[in-house]
Amino acid sequence: MRATVMFGAGDVRIETVPDAHLIDPTDALVVVTRAAICGSDLWPYQTMEHSETGRRMGHEFIGVVEAVGAEVRSVKAGDVVVAPFLYSDGTCVFCREGLHTSCIHGGRWGGDDVDAGQGEAVRVPEADGTLVVLPVGADDALMPSLLTLSDVMGTGHHAALAARVGPGRTAAVVGDGAVGLCGVIAARRLGAEQIVLVGRHPDRIALAREFGATDIVSERGDEAVERVRELTGGFGAHSVLECVGHGLSTVTALDIVRPGGAVGRVGLPQEASIPESLPTFFRNVTISGGPAPARAYIEELLPDVLEGRIEPGRVFDRVTDLDGVPDGYRAMNDREAIKVMIEP
Ligand SMILES: [Zn+2]
Repeated sequence: MRATVMFGAGDVRIETVPDAHLIDPTDALVVVTRAAICGSDLWPYQTMEHSETGRRMGHEFIGVVEAVGAEVRSVKAGDVVVAPFLYSDGTCVFCREGLHTSCIHGGRWGGDDVDAGQGEAVRVPEADGTLVVLPVGADDALMPSLLTLSDVMGTGHHAALAARVGPGRTAAVVGDGAVGLCGVIAARRLGAEQIVLVGRHPDRIALAREFGATDIVSERGDEAVERVRELTGGFGAHSVLECVGHGLSTVTALDIVRPGGAVGRVGLPQEASIPESLPTFFRNVTISGGPAPARAYIEELLPDVLEGRIEPGRVFDRVTDLDGVPDGYRAMNDREAIKVMIEP
């Protein structure tokens, strides 16, 4: 079968790899019908050292179940399913607490013996705990939005929960990538009164406004902090969603949160330590977040997608087949595309 393999920075190829097949009785074999390139795939795209064997790519996918192992109960051949960006058993102590990212039997796509999403098919470990059956056909018009449940919409939701967004509160979202845009959707969905987006790309800002952003701050650094304070009565935002992970964006996030407020971090940190330790201490700021347990949020967010209350699939502004994936990486890296959907 064909799948996406990264061999080093800027070097993404579509290669012939061993066919995905069932190994364990808890596996499902899924033929991928939609996949996506993630902003987090751009980190290795920018920095990965050359590898002879390469690394299979992709952790966001929807597909049709082709076969299941003898112990699989919750999905069957023919089901249309979405997978979250990590697999998990659904039964361990952490999964039962809703923290599937810490599943003691879980893991990541593209690891040892596990396929990744940007290819023709995937062996899904722990299929009962991992996959969610979608009550739609494989080519339903809602596919882009359903695909965001595998990662970016769940991650935006996680940022909003970690930042304690709620009715009557002001929210600020740092970052206008797909996760930041989904953070705007999540903040609105959870009742934020004012939603300030800190971002500077015109196409993304326009989408953020449609998703519910009430104010846009396109300045950076200290000027962005000043501007957000002006917009929030001088004190900053109750809830700040940090959706980038760079040092500067993290400093901005920690500087625009008001005393007693909370920062939800979902951008993969690029620094070893959290900045602004002293001022956030004295302002009693809560700093929370981490990788989103996307699996835990699929059931909660799915009805809103199915009934059209949220349309996170609008973050996809380019669609390609497998052959176009290398150029899709380039387009996202060059900020030509917000997010690329793949139809293998
Ligand atoms: Zn688990």
